[in-house]
Amino acid sequence: MKDEEELKRKIVEISMRLYHKGLVVGTGGNVTARIPGSTYILATPSGVRKELLSPRDIIKVDMDGRLVEGRLRPTSETPMHAEIYRVRGDVNAVVHAHPPYCTGFACTRLPLGSPILPEAIVVLGEVALVEYATPGTRELALKVAEAAEAHDALILANHGTITLGSSLEEAYLRTEVLEEYARVLFISTLLGGPKPLSAGDVERIREL
Ligand code: 13P
Ligand code: ZN
Repeated sequence: MKDEEELKRKIVEISMRLYHKGLVVGTGGNVTARIPGSTYILATPSGVRKELLSPRDIIKVDMDGRLVEGRLRPTSETPMHAEIYRVRGDVNAVVHAHPPYCTGFACTRLPLGSPILPEAIVVLGEVALVEYATPGTRELALKVAEAAEAHDALILANHGTITLGSSLEEAYLRTEVLEEYARVLFISTLLGGPKPLSAGDVERIREL
């Protein structure tokens, strides 16, 4: 119970940070966490601005997205979050956002594949580009889960981002670094094109 209350407070804190960093606008994005040692998930409610949430708005659902506790409707992306927890036993938190630079790349469907920033290589690993599917659908949930088996950072075509972590803090950090990576890639492309790090450079960074 203490764990649950603490996780609810942390979900609210991460939601606020997403909003204040410009990583979501309107009612976009959602945040969930797995309750340790259980098959339950805590989730943000659907259609609520992330900067206006309080811990009592956070909803408890089971792995099939059924409401267990809470007075609001869980996020429409609950199937996507639940499918990720199903395929990744090591993941305890998922952040879905609509950061503008990442979403720009998502709309062009250009992969974020250029190894240019050491921090992005260390924190994100390879970034997946998930084919478009309608938000909130089982089709999107299954496409995302397939890519999430081998990736911690995903771009959803014409939509936004998903990042995973062993904690809420780690999943959030990945969203922030992913957006910075997309922003720097965009700027360096405008400045004549980035000079990617060599395979040897990337290898030495991965060994750190
Ligand atoms: P919810 O408000 O239902 O969480 O949906 C926001 C969103 O980003 C859908 O992809
Ligand atoms: Zn979304």
